[in-house]
Amino acid sequence: MKFSKFLIPTMVNNPSDCDNNSQRLMLRTGMIKKVSNGLYFYLPSFMRVMEKVTRVINEEMQNIGCNHVKFPILVSKDLLDMSGRWNAFGKEMFKLQDRNDKLYAISPTNEEYACLLAQNFVTSYKDLPFAIYQIQQKHRDEIRPRGGVMRAREFIMKDAYSFHDSDENLSDFYNKVKNAYMTIFKRLGLNVVAVNADSGAMGGEQSQEFMSICETGDADIAICEDCGFVANLETVPCLKPLQQPFTLQYLKPEKIHTPNIKTIDELLNFLKIDIKNFVKSMIFKADNSYVMALVRGDREVNDVKLAKYLKVKNIELASEEEIKKNFNTEIGFIGPLLQNIKIYADYEVENMQYFVVGANEKDFHLKNVSCRDFKAEFIDLRCAEQGDCCPVCGKPLKLVKGNELGHVFKLGKHYTEKLNITFVNKDGKNQTMTMGCYGIGVERTISAIIEQFADEKGIAWPVSSAPFVVNLITVDIKNQEQKQASEEIYNKLLNAGIDVLWDDREERVGFKFKDSELIGFPLNIIIGKNILNNQVEFQPRLAEKQIIDVKDILYNVREFLNKN
Ligand SMILES: [Zn+2]
Repeated sequence: MKFSKFLIPTMVNNPSDCDNNSQRLMLRTGMIKKVSNGLYFYLPSFMRVMEKVTRVINEEMQNIGCNHVKFPILVSKDLLDMSGRWNAFGKEMFKLQDRNDKLYAISPTNEEYACLLAQNFVTSYKDLPFAIYQIQQKHRDEIRPRGGVMRAREFIMKDAYSFHDSDENLSDFYNKVKNAYMTIFKRLGLNVVAVNADSGAMGGEQSQEFMSICETGDADIAICEDCGFVANLETVPCLKPLQQPFTLQYLKPEKIHTPNIKTIDELLNFLKIDIKNFVKSMIFKADNSYVMALVRGDREVNDVKLAKYLKVKNIELASEEEIKKNFNTEIGFIGPLLQNIKIYADYEVENMQYFVVGANEKDFHLKNVSCRDFKAEFIDLRCAEQGDCCPVCGKPLKLVKGNELGHVFKLGKHYTEKLNITFVNKDGKNQTMTMGCYGIGVERTISAIIEQFADEKGIAWPVSSAPFVVNLITVDIKNQEQKQASEEIYNKLLNAGIDVLWDDREERVGFKFKDSELIGFPLNIIIGKNILNNQVEFQPRLAEKQIIDVKDILYNVREFLNKN
């Protein structure tokens, strides 16, 4: 490809309003162009990178026996009603109507179609495992698109689904996919860790996320540098502290007037107490009932842990009206001395002596409260924090940020039971299949590569995903010797199957160098005055420049490719 014909609108200055480096560099190097909130044009260099990334994904998925298919993008409400996801997905799912008023969704993921395909082509246990995947456009009506294509409203996902005759065989395949994912990310040069995750809205039993560690990441990850433990922060168990006996003489709770107090800080100031002597009380709606959660004032309630403990699907903070109506108390003054509500308190609260809580009455709190004044169940309820003990070895945990690139789930029979996806087992009986699903976000993977390989000059693409591996720069395109030699070298590289771009533009050479460093081709070959001596400059993006003979170009390029 010639640079003069290639649509790659680089920008001299940084674009404004970027959330991260990859968004800034994709815009600046002309990979993408914003259309509107969460929607982007993908330009030719992005398409070339995407082709290379998806080629790696295709190869590794097919290596483990996944068949490449494509599902329709439209999914009918009838089908999504069978799995219960028409309602479960909520506002994130785009919905539309056809000319006969039949309702459809633009698919956010495709478990239902995968089940239908399995139902069509699997009859007996001999047809299992049945594994399929697609690389396709997905749509989600993100409440707040951000990070460029990192979290957009339209994106490309590799989604795979597998069906099995036993949980054991599902586990085997799940591990194969995990290994394939690690191979994919390794081939792309990415530093990725697999962390245990909550399966959230997808349902199912076990799941892991593949995270690229990155300062601007949108997920919190806890790692233990000592034993290698790594997990999504929300899933990290907090150890039960050693039980401390209650040593003080029993005092009755005492009501105190706390007028015009709106925040915890104001309350602490007013009462001149430490935040560790305050207990936060919150009322949650867990499916259809209400529960109260208590944590020490400086901690946060982990609602994922609470939902898991209560075995409920939906959990959210109760609204002001619900609290008023059901418990006759006020947000900001909730406390555990309240009737008719089940209370769950974090282990730490059990060890507190006297503390302050809300009095369930506007402008009043209670002091001298201890756990003997109310009935609660003590569980692990708080979010882990930096410095908390590693649940495996007890050493302090470190918190880092990461971006989720992939996710694997053991769904079990969550979908196959609802959609009645069965096969005939060895005993000739009908049995429900067990299922797994596995995703990789293509744009998120490309963003992660940029985040990891950017430097102060621009992107330093690894060979495996660079839009072009070699950039051939002609110093003065108006010089006939230079132009002719460049064309010969260009054709020679093309014929050898080398991925080459020829910067044949009538620009100053300094400008071409800047563009090349910004876009980040792994290797530049520069044809200038020295061509009269049959010599060119061989300039890798991340290594020293060499002067080489024209006849050695192909040898040197191949050697470079072997090493990188
Ligand atoms: Zn550890």
